[in-house]
Amino acid sequence: IHIQTTSKTYPVFIGEKALQTLTDHLEKADYTKILIMTDFTVGRLHLGELKSYLSGVVEYCVYKVPVGEKAKQFSVYEEALTFALDNGLDRKSCIIAFGGGAVGDLAGFVAATFMRGIRFIQVPTTILAHDSAVGGKTGINHPLGKNMVGAFHQPEGVYYFTDFLDTLPLSEIRSGFAEVVKHAFIADKELLDFLMNSITDLTKISKQDLGYILKRGIEIKANVVHQDERENGLRAVLNFGHTLGHAIEANAGYGTVTHGEAIMTGLVYALYLSESETGLAVDIHRFEQWLGTLGYQLEISNQFDFDKAITSMKRDKKSFANKPRFILLEKIGQPVIKEIAEDQLKKTYEKFILTTQLQ
Ligand code: NAD
Ligand code: ZN
Repeated sequence: IHIQTTSKTYPVFIGEKALQTLTDHLEKADYTKILIMTDFTVGRLHLGELKSYLSGVVEYCVYKVPVGEKAKQFSVYEEALTFALDNGLDRKSCIIAFGGGAVGDLAGFVAATFMRGIRFIQVPTTILAHDSAVGGKTGINHPLGKNMVGAFHQPEGVYYFTDFLDTLPLSEIRSGFAEVVKHAFIADKELLDFLMNSITDLTKISKQDLGYILKRGIEIKANVVHQDERENGLRAVLNFGHTLGHAIEANAGYGTVTHGEAIMTGLVYALYLSESETGLAVDIHRFEQWLGTLGYQLEISNQFDFDKAITSMKRDKKSFANKPRFILLEKIGQPVIKEIAEDQLKKTYEKFILTTQLQ
């Protein structure tokens, strides 16, 4: 797949030859040094394999960061920059982001800002990263909000070696799969039908189906990013499910629920909102039952304070002038962006809570 944006065009390779292709790229490129950034889990499980493709090809060093959202903290960002300086990286060096979306966001942001920007490569190891590794959004969290500090910085390439996914725990498969479902809803009814008809157990997705799902997800994202790299408009549709989803993550404390599971709950809420605001005709009940089969928990904790969530939704980057804006669907594949009045948000929330708790 080729990702075309205003600032850069770059390739995405998916499958078992991806790492060999990375070696070929590194042999040809003029990088003075490589910094591999990974987290402790991915480092322990898969660094040996990645290294075997790099040794003798380029000079590299490795920096390991804490697992999950802890990677996206200011302190970790600063330590990574110190490590890069200590290890003599220069403006012609390159960073390899080796891990899931958290590592990718951090490593991409380090690359975007180190010496005003150096090149970087994505080697994603989660399903979720089919989304995060493509499109050039990089960044870290602020105590007051997720992804509040960042930069647009496109990678040189994305090398997706799907064998790495074999060690993913079920909760992470479920998390990443939510973004695939999101991509289907905003752009591809056929993909949604395929998912709902053929995926009933997330531990048993065949390699072939997985390859297809990741490819379609990336194509859909690429198509949106191609039209609107910097999120002046259209790109916001990729945030379908995320407005409430981010509030759920913030409320639970980052890392307590997975990103995708929070987003799936936000997605169902956005379907209910669409039903009342745009007249979307989708069998939400059937969809919720399917999600139940896959193990998604749509219940929101009793401690969830919806008024507080509204405050954080107003701070969401899609909102302007303090009014929460939502991505809704007119039809599957036809997203729209709408400002919604607070009382409507609350009414729908109550309906949503009631129906999800009844199941
Ligand atoms: P992650 O990097 O935290 O990975 C999730 C967990 O899986 C971690 O514990 C990690 O150690 C583990 N893991 C990763 N690969 C593994 C493997 N192959 N085997 C076993 N364990 C493995 O994050 P994620 O869930 O991939 O992504 C979530 C992050 O991505 C969030 O911070 C979110 O904001 C960000 N995101 C960014 C974009 C973007 O466009 N930049 C888009 C979507 C999400
Ligand atoms: Zn997401």
